[in-house]
Amino acid sequence: MKVPFLDLKLQHQALRTEVLAALAETYDATRFCLGKDVEDFEKAFSATLGYPRTLGMNSGTSPLHIASLCGGFGPGDEIITTPFTFASSCWGISYVGATPVFVDIDADTWCISSAAIAKAITPKTKGIVVVHIFGQPARMDEIMALARQHKLFIVEDCAQSVGAQYKGQPVGGIGDCGTFSFYPTKNLGGCGEGGAFVSKHPAVMDQAQLLRVHGSPKRYLHTEVGFNFRMDGFQGAVLNIKLKQLAKWTARRRAIAAKYLAGIKRSDVQLPVVPAYGESVWHQFTLLHPQRDALRVHLEKSGVGTEIIYPGPMHLQPCYASLGYQPGSISVAESTSARCVSLPIFPELTDEQVEHVIQSVNRF
Ligand SMILES: *Cc1c(COP(=O)(O)O)cnc(C)c1O
Repeated sequence: MKVPFLDLKLQHQALRTEVLAALAETYDATRFCLGKDVEDFEKAFSATLGYPRTLGMNSGTSPLHIASLCGGFGPGDEIITTPFTFASSCWGISYVGATPVFVDIDADTWCISSAAIAKAITPKTKGIVVVHIFGQPARMDEIMALARQHKLFIVEDCAQSVGAQYKGQPVGGIGDCGTFSFYPTKNLGGCGEGGAFVSKHPAVMDQAQLLRVHGSPKRYLHTEVGFNFRMDGFQGAVLNIKLKQLAKWTARRRAIAAKYLAGIKRSDVQLPVVPAYGESVWHQFTLLHPQRDALRVHLEKSGVGTEIIYPGPMHLQPCYASLGYQPGSISVAESTSARCVSLPIFPELTDEQVEHVIQSVNRF
């Protein structure tokens, strides 16, 4: 039996007629940049997930850049973040000339550790970029307590956690702002690039809206040096259709994760935890194994696709060599990177495929 790590064709075949009809309408109306489709999506995203307002953007990286500007981050500022993430989480910090300060993660959630943050805070610390990794919410109460104490601006990178909640509150709405990616492989993916920005502060939303389109409150007036971070109309049209499926898709991801958690029975595997404070939206189902490369080869032979996410933590990437981190300096993140392997988890997997993955892991 074949179980691909991810197959986007199934989802897109199922929605083909509906999506192509919507795209044709957008095409005929020439609503190519922002416009009604994007506005409809922004309203529906806010209403469905529980944000006061949403700004559609052209990727998940652009709102992270805007977040740094809204936080007033700049040269000389230290921004604490996690090395166990996709590179883009750090780009917003570096784009504005601030310094990323990498700290360790919790061994159970693989999200940034509040104890490690507390130790890294200096008079130069201006903010924290929290990443809800693999769909799992980070421990926000502890992080927000540090933020209040030290007057820090909190960015939540929700690229992998759309729809996740922490103690009943949607992620991205707890800190000062939240960012999303609609890259095709995410839980809510467009047919191309896309992202979004949310904030509970109206003034931050106004600032982000200004920066999204050329720092321009009205045509040919530029009050700030801005960007072109507009979402395109086609993505708005596609995402409007897909958003309606998100709850169903998330429920299916949770059902698959529950099967993995119940079915994988090995004493040498560390399975992901489901903390009491919130439920993951399972962007990835990742486990740790001391011989993960051999486990991968074995799974490949059984027809099961896997990925290593992420093989190299950010503090050891060549682009940050000048920061001077040495191997061994951030131990939990490094040992997690060395042992992690992600299993297939997408809504269209059949129960038979899930069972095959479980049996294949157990037979290793
Ligand atoms: C995908 C991702 C991003 C960036 O999104 P793009 O849309 O590819 O720019 C940022 N952070 C994390 C954690 C991601 O997984």
